[in-house]
Amino acid sequence: MRYGIISDIHSNQEALNASLAQLKYVDKILCLGDIVGYSASPNQCTEKVRHFGCKAIAGNHDLAATEKQGLDNFNLYAKRSILWTKENLTEENKEYLRQLPNILIIDEMTLLHGSLTNLTGDYITNTQQARDCFSLLSTQICFIGHTHIPEYYIQENNKIMCQNIKPQDRSEIIISDNLRYIINCGSVGQPRDRDPRASFGIYDSKKKKVEIIRVDYLREITKRKMEEVGLPRILQDRLDIGW
Ligand code: ZN
Repeated sequence: MRYGIISDIHSNQEALNASLAQLKYVDKILCLGDIVGYSASPNQCTEKVRHFGCKAIAGNHDLAATEKQGLDNFNLYAKRSILWTKENLTEENKEYLRQLPNILIIDEMTLLHGSLTNLTGDYITNTQQARDCFSLLSTQICFIGHTHIPEYYIQENNKIMCQNIKPQDRSEIIISDNLRYIINCGSVGQPRDRDPRASFGIYDSKKKKVEIIRVDYLREITKRKMEEVGLPRILQDRLDIGW
């Protein structure tokens, strides 16, 4: 099976369209949460995920936008975008986001947004946090989102290693049988590794290979839409620098 792995779309319709155009030939698309928040197209992005039949899980922004979680852990700009999102999501889309599970296990893969220590809250940004997640992991591979940084962690016996993925058009991760992996394919709609291009992955479970792919999208349109609905300027600017 070939799986498209998308995460952290964050209501960025143009980045989602550019990414899905590269995922036409996969068997299934898996979405690791934060479909909404930050940008101006929450309904269009939620509907696209639904209509593509993606297997999706919830992220913290999806929970907050549907009132399954409070806003205490959100910064000022995230909070403002969530309040706008809540007002503008249709009831049907809210209902879809509300019923998303926080974790899925498919084809020997665990899919979640944050970490097994807190499915939609904790971040994995270092080897200790990865170790804590590995200690609870029952599959060989775990795909995560949440940090918006493409990188992966390998567990070999008691050793945990972090591998950065450099911003380039395509990067490859070869899955070895005797190792375990926590993989973040980056963010479709709000990358934070100083590369503004959308980031996503393709996992080939037969070839045991994950490809991380970057594509450009029409950022000016995304930013104009955000401007038109009055979302904070800083959220537009960060799309340009990929931060
Ligand atoms: Zn996110």
